[in-house]
Amino acid sequence: MNKPLILIVEDDNAVKNLIATALETQSYRYHTAATGVQAVLEAATKRPDVLLLDLGLPDMDGVEVIRKIRSWSELPIIVISARSEDTDKIDALDAGADDYLTKPFSVDELLARLRVTLRRLKYIRASSAQDSTFVNGDLTVDYAAGFAYLRGEELHLTPIEYKLLCLLCRNVGKVLTHTYLTREIWGTAFDSDIASLRVFMTTLRKKIQPRPEDPQFIQTHVGVGYRMVRL
Ligand code: CA
Repeated sequence: MNKPLILIVEDDNAVKNLIATALETQSYRYHTAATGVQAVLEAATKRPDVLLLDLGLPDMDGVEVIRKIRSWSELPIIVISARSEDTDKIDALDAGADDYLTKPFSVDELLARLRVTLRRLKYIRASSAQDSTFVNGDLTVDYAAGFAYLRGEELHLTPIEYKLLCLLCRNVGKVLTHTYLTREIWGTAFDSDIASLRVFMTTLRKKIQPRPEDPQFIQTHVGVGYRMVRL
């Protein structure tokens, strides 16, 4: 892979320059856009590997930009939001964003998120729709057979735990919102479903991370959702 090409969508010059400088330290290539219209155009013509998207743009809501791009592209999108409200992040994630950063953020944090996203991208490009097995450290999911294994031992999961695990694995590296998960599992997204989701997540974690020294496969994003981490 060539040096990754990043599209920075940001109308605040100071933030844009900060990001550009950070990308230069890693020799990433980049383009910039300052409006939503320009972002959609550049995403289509420059074909970046990752989009860094400010949600507060002068001409269009960033969530709208995500919806437009998602109608024709799976390009990874990391949202950068000055708004600290969880609902904005959740709207962006539900519209198809992969991850989020809240301003003010550190350069290290930005670069770490980018590395995670680029790893995920590499994994997506290397795998194909025919892939029937997911392997992540000691964890294996055989989608075709409908079984999951930890260190070669079959895991005894309930149907809902298994479904939850598959959703997380198929979207490895991506933050999945509570609403997304409950809709996929139960077809609804009531508060009571989110409470049930927490219970199933706890029992699933105990099964895939039985020992205190086991790696933490599943990250919790408080008030937002969960992510399967690629180890
Ligand atoms: Ca802005």
